[in-house]
Amino acid sequence: MDENFQEEQFRGMIKFTPPLSKQRYQFVKDLVEKYKPQKVADLGCADCRLLWILKFCSCIEVLVGLDICESIMKEKMHRLSPLPGDYLQPTERSLTITLYHGSVAHEDPCMLGFDMVTCIELIEHLEELELKKFPEVVFGFMAPSIVVISTPNIEFNMLFPGVTLFRHPDHKFEWNRAQFQSWALETARCYDYSVEFTGVGHAPRGMENVGFCTQIGVFFRKCPQTSGFAQSENSRETVYKMVFKAVYPSLKDEKYLQNTLVGEVISTAQIIKLSLLDHLMSEHEECNENTTERKAQLQSCFSKDIRKLAIEKSMESFVNGNVVYVPLKTIFSFPKVNQLCGTLERLHKLIAGRVTLSSDGYALMLSTEHENEEN
Ligand code: SAM
Repeated sequence: MDENFQEEQFRGMIKFTPPLSKQRYQFVKDLVEKYKPQKVADLGCADCRLLWILKFCSCIEVLVGLDICESIMKEKMHRLSPLPGDYLQPTERSLTITLYHGSVAHEDPCMLGFDMVTCIELIEHLEELELKKFPEVVFGFMAPSIVVISTPNIEFNMLFPGVTLFRHPDHKFEWNRAQFQSWALETARCYDYSVEFTGVGHAPRGMENVGFCTQIGVFFRKCPQTSGFAQSENSRETVYKMVFKAVYPSLKDEKYLQNTLVGEVISTAQIIKLSLLDHLMSEHEECNENTTERKAQLQSCFSKDIRKLAIEKSMESFVNGNVVYVPLKTIFSFPKVNQLCGTLERLHKLIAGRVTLSSDGYALMLSTEHENEEN
């Protein structure tokens, strides 16, 4: 049975609002927003719910999930894939999400270099030998700046009617606050971390002495990470199996930058063209409702206007025959285009071959025709 669901069934006289699992995820999300880690690993990620929440934290660029149960990870992993909107409007941020099948009792180089590691309701599922190995793997080998560990506080169970031993049949143990804190303090001491204790899920008024329903330890590495990890990464054997990988489109990737820029350039040039044509039309009130006549008149207007609008200023758009010329400099002066490419030279380089440019590369060429037909 889903453990988060079962926890809700136990509520009896206690109602957690929001549900306890959501409070745990929110706790992690708040920490992420506070410390802004770029690389986060969630150990014992189960059906990837926390990963799905964290994918929206803009500071995170690498998100990894690990679980010993492959099928549970696969249940909802598709939710971690990019959506059509991510391709339509790529952002500057890059994001890669990877899921691995494996055990926290084993070291794998893919787990090196993380800023934050979360272990939410995981340790109570570990067999004795796995629990023994766990600190060495997480604190000794992975050695992230921050580790978050949550686990049930058994002292709270007296408030759950019907719970005789542990909250879930798969729990190998449940600790009281003293047991968890002594394990955490010893682990922190061994691996040179400090630890702060807190929790989520308040007891009802008058019963606060049992502590939080979920106890949490947040560990902070005292010394900066050694630069040796890259070396050990190469020399170690991989033991985890990758089961999912999603690379989100990002403007850091030239392919997506180019597509976004070309779209932006064309829509900017279209706006400039429309406003220029509107302006010319209003100057020639004699244009009547008849489309064919209007077309002919437009042509003559434009030919006259080419003389008038001859490139006096290098940024002025103009019409010559059926073509509107919009200088790249003008397009570049629009903030969004400017932000995307940075320099005029880069703009030219990125759009060349994707739009029609004048032979000197000075202006973007658009036909007046479509506009007239639309009208
Ligand atoms: N962290 C998730 C959450 O808060 O929603 C789910 C926690 S679930 C209660 C515990 C998860 O730990 C299960 O998905 C289980 O398969 C996983 N697990 C148990 N032993 C493990 C191990 N040795 N290595 C990795 N994952 C393990």
